[in-house]
Amino acid sequence: MPTPRHPQTVIIGAGPAGLTAAYQLASRGAPVSVYEADDVVGGISRTVVRDGWRFDIGGHRFFTKVARVDALWHEILPEEDFLLRPRMSRIYYQGKLYDYPLRPLNALRNLGLREAAFALGSYLRARLRPPRDQHANYESWLVARFGWRLYRTFFKTYTEKVWGIPVSQMPADWAAQRIKNLSLAAAVLDAIRPGRNRKEITSLIEEFHYPKYGPGMMWEEAARKVEKMGGTLTMNATVTAVHRENGRAVAVTVTAGSGQRHRLAADHVISSTPLSTLITSMDPPAPPSILEAARDLRYRDYLTVALVVPREFSFPDNWIYIHDPGVRVGRIQNYGSWSPFLVKEGRTCLGLEFFVFEGDDMWTKPDDQLIAQATAELEALQLIRPGAVEAGYVVRVPKAYPTYDQHYRRNVEIMREWLAEHAPNVHPVGRNGMHRYNNADHSMLTAMLTVENILDGTEHDVWTVNVEQEYHEERLTSGAGRITGTGRDAPMIPRG
Ligand SMILES: Cc1cc2nc3c(=O)[nH]c(=O)nc-3n(C[C@H](O)[C@H](O)[C@H](O)COP(=O)(O)OP(=O)(O)OC[C@H]3O[C@@H](n4cnc5c(N)ncnc54)[C@H](O)[C@@H]3O)c2cc1C
Repeated sequence: MPTPRHPQTVIIGAGPAGLTAAYQLASRGAPVSVYEADDVVGGISRTVVRDGWRFDIGGHRFFTKVARVDALWHEILPEEDFLLRPRMSRIYYQGKLYDYPLRPLNALRNLGLREAAFALGSYLRARLRPPRDQHANYESWLVARFGWRLYRTFFKTYTEKVWGIPVSQMPADWAAQRIKNLSLAAAVLDAIRPGRNRKEITSLIEEFHYPKYGPGMMWEEAARKVEKMGGTLTMNATVTAVHRENGRAVAVTVTAGSGQRHRLAADHVISSTPLSTLITSMDPPAPPSILEAARDLRYRDYLTVALVVPREFSFPDNWIYIHDPGVRVGRIQNYGSWSPFLVKEGRTCLGLEFFVFEGDDMWTKPDDQLIAQATAELEALQLIRPGAVEAGYVVRVPKAYPTYDQHYRRNVEIMREWLAEHAPNVHPVGRNGMHRYNNADHSMLTAMLTVENILDGTEHDVWTVNVEQEYHEERLTSGAGRITGTGRDAPMIPRG
């Protein structure tokens, strides 16, 4: 009896989701072709290389509770390429560095007795006379619980930098979704509140795995292995159309950097392109109501300015959160702390992270001005001395964060339902592919389950990945409300 033919699968994107799918398919002998619009693999998890300096988009920890993802990481990269790195990150506020997760004594020392007393007073005032409507918005919810002073010190500025809107415009119900930052404020409160037991914060990931040349190393190796197993990977090749016939996708059009187009047949399409892009590339087009849902998805964008400085300005943290309102930078990565293999002798590379919107004043600034601004901010924070920056590089990342707003869930549902009916062999995976706040591990898991659905006929519901999963990186072991954080959820951002 002839063995059944494996289906031909086209994969859109060579990020973690696309390459995981390709790896799984190729390792089972199934034909697979990956098309990547960029000239490097890894997507948002790539390692950027400029003049021999290597840096992440942000910093990418390899941490997961999904055993099969962990196993795959170690299957792709040999053990000797993994470093086990200590995790350290602190909060910078008004010239002081606060341990994070917060330790009461360190917080008290940094705040000083006077400020701690003010914070306690402000807390007591809020408890005695809470804002009239504590559920009006996120700010009033927080102030009612922690008082204005702690709220301003440890919550307001960073949240606003990341999401780009005032906390007073965020809905209160995000609080119910376990917010990491709250654990910080709660711990400060615990430190200054009389008559309460000290809470102990346990961190479940004080060490993490990290490929010695950065996360891109994982995806460069995965790409090599996919090709070795017979899969094909084409770079600088954008999938610009998904063609449908008789209620299924039958082919894609790939447009090369030169503008040349090719049509390629496909039995299945695994897509990590943003869900909105996937829908708008359908041929014949999706109906107007579906296109409207696609165009209604929103994103938060990101840019990083990597600055080379002498090693004397290195710090032990992987990154520092910048809570000072006087500067635009939200976080500062120290790539030398991630891996000594990312930096050169006698120097480190600091990555200043700016959370932006595509097209805003920061996004459109020329690179030299961004480098000058990042340098000035580092100097203002007194993390370097004037004149210490030797080189700078800018990387802009559109659609870094899929935005959750009051319309997104419905929009995603509309597109999902339409795809299921009109192109059931098109499989959205990953982060933007599913418009889900997925980290690399969950992005990979969606790809693994999709491959099983294709090859084994299983019916995994890929859309349930990262929904309601317990994912606590830190937890308070006792105390009021047991406020815990996943670090993997995002607030609902109201549409103006
Ligand atoms: C600042 C920041 C820090 C992060 N830190 C961590 C961390 O510490 N740990 C962690 O696990 N995760 C982290 N993440 C999340 C992680 O980056 C993502 O989960 C992961 O990269 C998503 O993988 P993906 O394959 O779904 O998408 P992507 O990484 O976005 O890859 C998609 C790929 O598809 C390509 N593409 C898109 N459209 C087309 C098209 N039409 N044709 C061809 N190619 C196309 C893109 O060029 C890209 O290469 C972080 C994310 C950010 C923004």
